[in-house]
Amino acid sequence: MIKGFYNVPLAMNEPILSYAPGSSEREELQATYDKMWGETIDIPMVINGEKVSTGNMGRVIPPHDHQHNVGTYHIGDASHVNAAIEASLAAKENWENMSWENRSTIFLKAADLLAGPYRARINAATMINQGKNAFQAEIDASCEMIDFLRYNVQYVTDIYAEQPDSGEGVWNRLDFRPLEGFTFAITPFNFTAIAGNLTTSMAMLGNTVVWKPSFSQIYSAKVLMDVFEEAGLPAGVINMIFTDPVETSDIVFNHPDFAGLHFTGSTDVFKNIWGTIGTNIHKYKTYPRIVGETGGKDFVVAHKSANAEEVATGLMRGSFEYQGQKCSAASRAYVPSSMWPEVKSIMQREMATMKMGSPRDFTNYINAVIHEGSFDKIASFIDAAKKDSNVEIIAGGGYDKSKGYFIEPTVIVAQDPKYTTMCTELFGPVLTLYVYDDDKFEETLNLVDETSIYALTGSIFSKDRYAVELATQKLKNAAGNFYINDKPTGAVVGQQPFGGARASGTNDKAGSMLNLLRWMSPRTTKETLVTPRNYRYPFLSED
Ligand code: NAD
Repeated sequence: MIKGFYNVPLAMNEPILSYAPGSSEREELQATYDKMWGETIDIPMVINGEKVSTGNMGRVIPPHDHQHNVGTYHIGDASHVNAAIEASLAAKENWENMSWENRSTIFLKAADLLAGPYRARINAATMINQGKNAFQAEIDASCEMIDFLRYNVQYVTDIYAEQPDSGEGVWNRLDFRPLEGFTFAITPFNFTAIAGNLTTSMAMLGNTVVWKPSFSQIYSAKVLMDVFEEAGLPAGVINMIFTDPVETSDIVFNHPDFAGLHFTGSTDVFKNIWGTIGTNIHKYKTYPRIVGETGGKDFVVAHKSANAEEVATGLMRGSFEYQGQKCSAASRAYVPSSMWPEVKSIMQREMATMKMGSPRDFTNYINAVIHEGSFDKIASFIDAAKKDSNVEIIAGGGYDKSKGYFIEPTVIVAQDPKYTTMCTELFGPVLTLYVYDDDKFEETLNLVDETSIYALTGSIFSKDRYAVELATQKLKNAAGNFYINDKPTGAVVGQQPFGGARASGTNDKAGSMLNLLRWMSPRTTKETLVTPRNYRYPFLSED
């Protein structure tokens, strides 16, 4: 029985380690990477706390060395989807009835395990299987994941404490119940922290989860499950299955107990899923919650008052870190003609120094793109640009998939501001840029607003405050995360709640209380302290 109202430890952002030469973290990460690179791991699914092997194997592919064998995972079928749903439903009652201090301790412990003994392992898995360099792995798999866990525990505590007023003779209470049924997490390849957050944010509130990770993120997904297990997450609360996405969806979205979807991935997949859920709405016991964060075509606009070096740096970091495979990556830019020669020369000079290769070599800024499908798609757009006389490639343009899926960071300058790569999400290291007449700043803002179906991130570089004000107003619906004099990537949990609108998603802001509110179904209780025993109100008495 509770004998106190507990304060959870105050959440603070996990410090980002530098991995500078000679640092102990660099040494530990390199040793862990080498060990994992030299082993062959066997990765089973996890259903009801049991490791499930099928013998039907998929390969864990390092994008930078696709023939190297680091291990395999067990592919499941319809029976495993059904087993995961059954396990979730069976675990539900005990899990949702567990006291908050015990439930939250599991996630706080997971955060500390990631910050300490598992840090090198989760980072190395993310480097090997998702092709991130050490710094990109650190800010994602360690720091962001730890932040999600700690901040969400604090947010849930704050939500539980939010209670209604009580009138005279009455005590009103709110119970923040989890959703009735089971929840489903579908996660993308590009952030280990997204995989961990989409599952744990729902679980934290007492929901149980069927989780289907991306086939290109399975190594770090396994490490996450190891951490959750060591932290004490009970069997059946999060069930990880490696099953065909369409077959999985078909079973989940036809199940009467399906209660919520937490999705991050591409826009078309999400729209199709939404359609399926809509079609099946009569089959469900409750209206399912649908949260989806999807594609982007994120912009950088430079005003003529901006500093060219700052603009060029924002573009080179914002567009090319993690090979442009961040949903927030800058992929279209608008630069005034007076500034363009300087920005161009800085970018050409600096991009010539960017090294590309394996994340094991810490001097590589650029690594490989995730898989062959992605490589072929991006290469085809680069080829089309090379043949088009209306566009010019001023940096990069080369690619090679003989060993790993390497694509040079590429800058395309388009004469038509609606050229295909100004509008289409490529999800790779390709930035398309439009040079505008200095005097057409306002028209250019209209163009930025109208060019893409997405509205995820964007930024304005300007020293002129009126220009900042105008851009902030004109672009108010063009980005869910808007940056002033900064690159449009790198949102931090607890500081910049993340999500976009229009075709970019439901904008439920991961890394904030707003997201958690979607995974609960509050119950209001009114208790009357002295209950009336007579139906007659005073006004009924005669004068
Ligand atoms: P993806 O859509 O290919 O895959 C995402 C997940 O959906 C995977 O687990 C995949 O197996 C599953 N999936 C694929 N087809 C499915 C289907 N028909 N039914 C059910 N599930 C299906 O995306 P990806 O390549 O892993 O990730 C890149 C995409 O994710 C980009 O579009 C990017 O913008 C987006 N993204 C958005 C955010 C955000 O916060 N807005 C964050 C990260 C990534």
